[in-house]
Amino acid sequence: MSGGEENLRVVVRKDSDIIYSKSLSDIKSPIEICADEEYNVKVLLMSDGAEIVHSECVDRICVNTGKITHSGQAAVCLPAHVSVELRGDNSEIDVMVG
Ligand SMILES: [Zn+2]
Repeated sequence: MSGGEENLRVVVRKDSDIIYSKSLSDIKSPIEICADEEYNVKVLLMSDGAEIVHSECVDRICVNTGKITHSGQAAVCLPAHVSVELRGDNSEIDVMVG
């Protein structure tokens, strides 16, 4: 079905636990999840990317990162131990070269 577009998967982690993982192609309308209650970290997941839209952390680096849309990009809230990353959904085989 996809015409050459890379299929992306969004992975949301709290500490090192994956709390949310979904293929972007399965997101029909934006989904907002709360990744951390202490800092009220709100992550918005869209069909074309993901963004930390709100956090009560001090540095707000996570919010300033803005929307991530490409494989390998990540938005991280260090104080809340939350990370949002995009990865290729087709890369099931992690090949270690070297
Ligand atoms: Zn933050």
